[in-house]
Amino acid sequence: EDQLSIELVRQLSPDRVLLIESRRHYAAGEFHKHRIAFQVSAIRHFADEVRAAGFAVHHYGLGRRPYLDSVSAIKHLVKACGDSQFVVIDPSEHHCAVWIDSLADAQAEALGIEIRIEPNTLFLTDREEFAAWAQPLKRPIMEHFYRRMRTKLGVLVEADGSPVGGEWNLDKENRKPAKRGMMFPPPLAISPDAITQGALKDVERVFPNHPGTTEGFSLPVTRADAERAWDDFVKHRLPQFGDYEDAMLTGEPILNHSFVSMLLNVALLSPMKLVRDVEAAYRAGRVPLNSAEGFIRQIIGWREYVYGIYWSFMPEYRARNSRGSKLDLPDWFWTGKTEMNCLSHCISGVVERAYSHHIQRLMVICNFATLAALSPQAVNDWFYAMYVDSHDWVVTPNVVGMGMNADGGTIATKPYISSAAYINRMSDYCQGCRFDPAERTGELACPFNYLFWTFLHHFADRFKNNPRMTMMLKNAQKIEADQMRQMMQQRKTFIELHVRGKAYRP
Ligand code: SF4
Repeated sequence: EDQLSIELVRQLSPDRVLLIESRRHYAAGEFHKHRIAFQVSAIRHFADEVRAAGFAVHHYGLGRRPYLDSVSAIKHLVKACGDSQFVVIDPSEHHCAVWIDSLADAQAEALGIEIRIEPNTLFLTDREEFAAWAQPLKRPIMEHFYRRMRTKLGVLVEADGSPVGGEWNLDKENRKPAKRGMMFPPPLAISPDAITQGALKDVERVFPNHPGTTEGFSLPVTRADAERAWDDFVKHRLPQFGDYEDAMLTGEPILNHSFVSMLLNVALLSPMKLVRDVEAAYRAGRVPLNSAEGFIRQIIGWREYVYGIYWSFMPEYRARNSRGSKLDLPDWFWTGKTEMNCLSHCISGVVERAYSHHIQRLMVICNFATLAALSPQAVNDWFYAMYVDSHDWVVTPNVVGMGMNADGGTIATKPYISSAAYINRMSDYCQGCRFDPAERTGELACPFNYLFWTFLHHFADRFKNNPRMTMMLKNAQKIEADQMRQMMQQRKTFIELHVRGKAYRP
């Protein structure tokens, strides 16, 4: 489902291409309906693209009852065509690689075929090379990797090897809050064609009880539409992407974000094309440097880095839980029905369209999950199931590591946590909330406040030698004992009622 690359097919030039919509896989992940519909429709359009390129396609769709999973589809194909060799591209997800290995070990003989695994060239990073760099380090820092990638690929670098504009990273120029009334050009909406309509119907029929909805589906599912959506972003939203990268605004689920991660992650777009297009737009004077560098950092920096981290530390990485957080997710993670306005907006967006942008994921949802001591594995499963762009290699490092700092600090040098002050500065959510972002205790107190300060109080010892936490810990120490006691009590009540309890469940 994530290797829809026509170049790969051309390179391998196989006798036939096998495409499987695995009912068992989608059911096991309890995926959001939007996510399944996107992938199924993209696979079906890809089948046409492969046929048009002159290759035979064997396509096992959701509707064909005997082929519930990949093994039965492979068995059927081998029997029907009598092939002796089966070629797979090395999967990007660890559990798929384990499955392929087991297939090669145990089943190939029984099937009478040889399984050959070809390298995965859909990423810019060599897994072994990354692991050799990362594994000996206590903290393989993204910034170091990113600079190496800029230099290696020759992106936004001068002839003498220095960064264009004099600085490698303009993160500090990516933090403007957005104001109500500002106009943000929406992403391209594609009307579902007959193939997509068929996929939407199949998803509703086969997975009626999965979370989310197929209503309002307007994602690109062909390579041509993916490229149109990408060009639309470069033209209309990239120029201000840099300024408002960290902003959040009611009624603006996309803002200036590209909204192409799902296309990139199934190989309808290629990372190097995006990087070269953005660099060209900058060099032609169409976008400012903080936008170009900010976007390129996400692709050749963060995206490649988390892929490398994933393959360097899996499978133990997914089980990391450095603070022993155990709470399960409250039911409102599947509805968005909570009185906390920021979480309500961010989670409702996920329920509606299987998407929220980066800063909503990091500084609202994961921030809350960290402060409320939710289980990193439960949060990881939720992100994996609910997002249209989710794949294990991207979700796990971003949630267990970056989002919840449960990996012991391998990725992030400090937890990405904040009180209500950050959310109030970067969004308009607090203006419509029943809680008061300025209050730490009492009926109107914002939960982010007492969760934040009691978290710091509780883990003061653990973070005391971390220079990036010094200021936060000092501020926590200044809080009078009586107020800290009140916040502890309020935290306890909140967890009982809003996280563990039934009282607020929809
Ligand atoms: Fe979120 Fe607190 Fe602001 Fe309400 S007041 S929107 S809960 S940060």
